[in-house]
Amino acid sequence: MFDICVLGSLNMDLVINVEKIPAIGETILAQDFKKVPGGKGANQAVAAARLKNRVVMLGCVGNDDNGNILVENMKKDGIETKYIKTIKDIPTGIALITVDSLGNNTISVYAGANMNIKEDDIDSLKDVIINSNIIIAQFETPVETTIKAFKLAKEHGKITILNPAPARRIPNELIKLSDIIVPNETETEIITGINPADDEKIKTAAKSIIDKGAEFVIITLGSRGAAIVSKDNYEEIAAYKVDAVDTTAAGDSFIGGIASFLSKKGLSFDILCSAVKFANKVSAIAVTRQGAQSSLPYLNEVYEKYG
Ligand code: ADP
Repeated sequence: MFDICVLGSLNMDLVINVEKIPAIGETILAQDFKKVPGGKGANQAVAAARLKNRVVMLGCVGNDDNGNILVENMKKDGIETKYIKTIKDIPTGIALITVDSLGNNTISVYAGANMNIKEDDIDSLKDVIINSNIIIAQFETPVETTIKAFKLAKEHGKITILNPAPARRIPNELIKLSDIIVPNETETEIITGINPADDEKIKTAAKSIIDKGAEFVIITLGSRGAAIVSKDNYEEIAAYKVDAVDTTAAGDSFIGGIASFLSKKGLSFDILCSAVKFANKVSAIAVTRQGAQSSLPYLNEVYEKYG
């Protein structure tokens, strides 16, 4: 049995720190460079594992150093990695991340091996999915595979969480199969055409997704916190005030926090509000640290800092 199954990407993040993000055609000298394990799927899995959940990762890496480092790194956090496929002749996914002195970032992702988890793989992974309480997916792996996995999960009464990132149109079939959809502000605007700048716009944007069949939408609002929306309810929960140094993986730490809370408590609007309060704590710590997985806190750190 697993608490949480993450279907998603494993990327090696190449992180460059600069004073300011270069404009098109501009070349600048960077202050620092690091290679850090990342990928939205792997980050979310590590976030949940560090919060003391039994986590299994489904995805693909290339037969290369980056792939080995990523898998070994996940093992250190106790994640079950034996279902991760190694793909010959296709490199492990890469993300080029540029972070400025204010902690803002730009990210370019080369998906590589990540696109090789196919619909057919879900047949052989059936037992893993139906033996997990919660299934999480993002958009750095093929959407058809996610649809098949979520269909199976829903047939077996599991909780499904979709993080529609990087933003793209969400197929209606997938919206209906998702219990909770968690976009950030940019993703919300791309998916719904509405910039979630104030309460009314947040509600209208979220409702447009709920009307297509999702039960809950949580829009993350960066330093403003997050809003939870269902057909009949709305709640906005403020973020903690911290000095952010690097917001990479803020959203991933938040998803890990949400899934971790729900895996112990089940799913309702009120439970989701408590889950968001917990996830805000997890993310507040993550944004005060550099990198993706390197920034994700352990449960004892969350308790020590915020009780
Ligand atoms: P993403 O990383 O996907 O863009 P957000 O920027 O919306 O996601 O951040 C996700 C969550 O991380 C927020 O809901 C909030 O809890 C936390 N967070 C992000 N930025 C900050 C910040 N500057 N201060 C405190 N918390 C933050």
